[in-house]
Amino acid sequence: MMLPPEPTREAALVRLSAFAPAMGPAYAATRNHDRGPGDRGNVSALSPHVRHRLVTEEELVIAALARHGPSSCEKFVQEVFWRSYWKGWLELRPAVWADYAGRIAHEADGLATQGGLRRAYEDAVSARTGIACFDAWARELVETGYLHNHARMWFASIWVFTLRLPWVLGADFTYRHFMDGDPASNTLSWRWVAGLHTRGKHYLARAANIAEYTGGRFDPRGELDERAGPLDEPPYGPPGMLPPASPAPEGRVALLATEDDGCVETLPLGRAGVVSLGGIICTARRSPLPVGAAAIRFADGAMNDALTRAGTHLGLVPTRLANAAAVVDWAASGGAAAVVTAYAPVGPVATMLDGLEPTLATRGIRLVRLRRAWDDAVWPHATKGFFQVKDRIPAILRTLGPLSPP
Ligand SMILES: Cc1cc2nc3c(=O)[nH]c(=O)nc-3n(C[C@H](O)[C@H](O)[C@H](O)COP(=O)(O)OP(=O)(O)OC[C@H]3O[C@@H](n4cnc5c(N)ncnc54)[C@H](O)[C@@H]3O)c2cc1C
Repeated sequence: MMLPPEPTREAALVRLSAFAPAMGPAYAATRNHDRGPGDRGNVSALSPHVRHRLVTEEELVIAALARHGPSSCEKFVQEVFWRSYWKGWLELRPAVWADYAGRIAHEADGLATQGGLRRAYEDAVSARTGIACFDAWARELVETGYLHNHARMWFASIWVFTLRLPWVLGADFTYRHFMDGDPASNTLSWRWVAGLHTRGKHYLARAANIAEYTGGRFDPRGELDERAGPLDEPPYGPPGMLPPASPAPEGRVALLATEDDGCVETLPLGRAGVVSLGGIICTARRSPLPVGAAAIRFADGAMNDALTRAGTHLGLVPTRLANAAAVVDWAASGGAAAVVTAYAPVGPVATMLDGLEPTLATRGIRLVRLRRAWDDAVWPHATKGFFQVKDRIPAILRTLGPLSPP
């Protein structure tokens, strides 16, 4: 897939079908190679679409299993489950997100007041460190909104262990620029690299590994700290429980799309009658610092696509809503008894919905957050390491029954 991708479900399905033959042994053998921005043929490059749920995790797994035996596409399926694992892990520990969000506000203040930190940070984000691979990835990230998974690991590792910059600022930088910027996958992957997820186990970028997996495009021999120890921070408490999902709605409802789910027309709407359709994005709320143009463009296009499809399906003219206050007025003016939306996992959309719920209540309108069966099936297992989830993949897939597109 060439970047930038079209932010539409149709483009996602075209890419999914084109990439399906490569989801088997070819993916397992080549996925770790970063061939550069001009060649993403060895990976799906579908993460921006999956993150906005223009296409679902379930659809990726269906495509892989339909084309390959379970063992030959095992690696691809596991990678998709990494995404759901991170989502579930954070959902069971929302304090980790609250702590990160608080710290980024504090670190952003530090950039304003500490000259040394600001200069080192500016060098890193402006591709001026002198480490050619790192500078190339910083440029690629800002220009395209995408990095290969291996480059994300090397980039985060060099940021933390060679440049010795705060990991929270690095996580914020990638989150602001990725088209697939995701509270769980991004924050927790940075914590994993730093040695905070599996405490004491960190990911050190090595020059030889970079040279090998970039096909010799980069060779930072002698430029990286390959001996640094892991970071350490106080651990978080045990995981909590998933909040209960809302029951199926009834009566007149206003259907609200967010950037966390671009297929609202396929939510389990029960016997509800949808009287209005609206959409809101919170992408600019990813950070107190400016969010990248590629990320904003993708989220905006994805919302337009989501509303166009849902509008056609429901026979309604959709409304783009600028903020939470506009959502309340829109729902009330349509005479809805409830606003129905996809359950938003921990992150800016969930925070916006938490603020919206009591205001809607003052107008006698309920907020109904519907969780997809996939999330209900995977998230409760994300209590410890990924391997607990990985071992359960066949059982989880069985509980979902015959997989079907939304
Ligand atoms: C420091 C760091 C930050 C990251 N931040 C994000 C982020 O903000 N948003 C995001 O979606 N992913 C993030 N990832 C995970 C991963 O790098 C991307 O999902 C992947 O590179 C997307 O490319 P792809 O669609 O070609 O993946 P493919 O290799 O084609 O994989 C198929 C799908 O599986 C999922 N997936 C694959 N690898 C991972 C993984 N390691 N973790 C979670 N899901 C995975 C994605 O949804 C992806 O679209 C991050 C990884 C690291 C190391």
